[in-house]
Amino acid sequence: LKQDLTIKSTIKRAIISVNLGTVHTLSTRYGYHYGIDLIKGISKALKMLCSDTYQLFSTHEYRFVYYVKGYRDKSELVSFGKEIYHILESLLTFERIGWGIGIIEINKDNKRNIELLLKNLLIASERAIIDFEKDIEYYFFDKELETTIERDDRLIQNLSQIAGGIDAERLFLHFQPIIDLKTNKICGFESLSRLNIDSMGLIPPLEFIPLAEKTKLIIPLGKNIIKQSLQFLHQMQSITDEKPYISINISIIQLLSKDFIHTLLFEIHEAKVKPHDIVLEITESTFASEFQDVNKILSDLKELGIRIALDDFGTGYSSLSRERELNVNYLKIDKFFIDKLLSLKEEETITADIISMAHKLGHEVIAEGVEHETQRAYLEKHGCDHIQGYLISKPLEPSKAIEFIKHYG
Ligand code: C2E
Ligand code: CA
Ligand code: CA
Repeated sequence: LKQDLTIKSTIKRAIISVNLGTVHTLSTRYGYHYGIDLIKGISKALKMLCSDTYQLFSTHEYRFVYYVKGYRDKSELVSFGKEIYHILESLLTFERIGWGIGIIEINKDNKRNIELLLKNLLIASERAIIDFEKDIEYYFFDKELETTIERDDRLIQNLSQIAGGIDAERLFLHFQPIIDLKTNKICGFESLSRLNIDSMGLIPPLEFIPLAEKTKLIIPLGKNIIKQSLQFLHQMQSITDEKPYISINISIIQLLSKDFIHTLLFEIHEAKVKPHDIVLEITESTFASEFQDVNKILSDLKELGIRIALDDFGTGYSSLSRERELNVNYLKIDKFFIDKLLSLKEEETITADIISMAHKLGHEVIAEGVEHETQRAYLEKHGCDHIQGYLISKPLEPSKAIEFIKHYG
């Protein structure tokens, strides 16, 4: 490549990486030869795509690279990327692993630094593995990807500083009230994280929480979130006799981390609050494969008096056969089913059936994302226990949340 790129030429050149790093997990599961045989099979199939324009190289135990010389335009690379994708799909879907395809078009600006070229190719293919679930077929390493990667890196850097206690107030919480439909009183608040970075502005949790999970920074950051949430719990309990609970979002990595319960108990003690005023929200789709381990922890938490809510219920995978075994107190019906109430006729909706099913399984029901009075009326009619949403209030900063308690109802 190095030699080739020193030659002045007008033909278009590109490199395409096929990253099969995920095969490694199969090797550790079923043995070295299992993985190697699979790689051999894949290399045979990839070879079928070779031609004068497309040369295939093995650059690493689990990586291949096509060197493309003389392609027409970007759309040709796109269809080639799709072809590779379909080959891998036919060979790997059964193995239940992902893969990543990265593409770089070589131009006069990037051709001088081969090291960087190969590094960026790796980055693009790794990124494609990470985003595999999002139906990404391939990634071009281009300005756009470079910008996202730089942004992620900056966020991770910030999160890492915050986790280390530097300017920790960049991560703070808002609290959204939850109302009991029977009494029309505030029964709890959900704590929702906010990240404010000087040069980047307010970052939504849907952007930074996945990064914190990927880097495991969610473990120290989560500790901080629990601490702040319990402080708020203490504060609000001192101004009302209603004893609202605090509901805290917990990532599965955090829940499964060593000492989770121990740390939680310590924070509970520090904040001088009671375990049964705490609800932990977890998302079922994220722990399907660790069901037993997670359920054991949930059972330990339950024994301590801490309640559990199953978040985003109805989206992702939920296995109804296991729902009854799951040690949870609440099901939070995802906003999706609450939105549906606006567009469907009442007899077409299944939201009422979800409520009734949850009750039969022994869970209480919280409806999320309630924005309109009609939705509230439907939920009330069908026996939903609690509701949360902009109709009641947006998530509020702590002092506003305290004001809200004082004036509500
Ligand atoms: P979630 O747990 O499902 O939280 C509900 C999201 O819906 C929140 O978004 C909330 O602000 C928003 N919401 C509430 N009511 C309404 C409504 O009536 N209409 C609309 N359109 N939206 C409403 P937010 O705060 O952006 O949080 C997004 C997600 O990020 C959360 O979804 C949760 O999964 C995650 N998250 C937030 N804070 C934390 C945290 O401290 N730890 C962890 N692990 N995840 C968190
Ligand atoms: Ca939640
Ligand atoms: Ca939710």
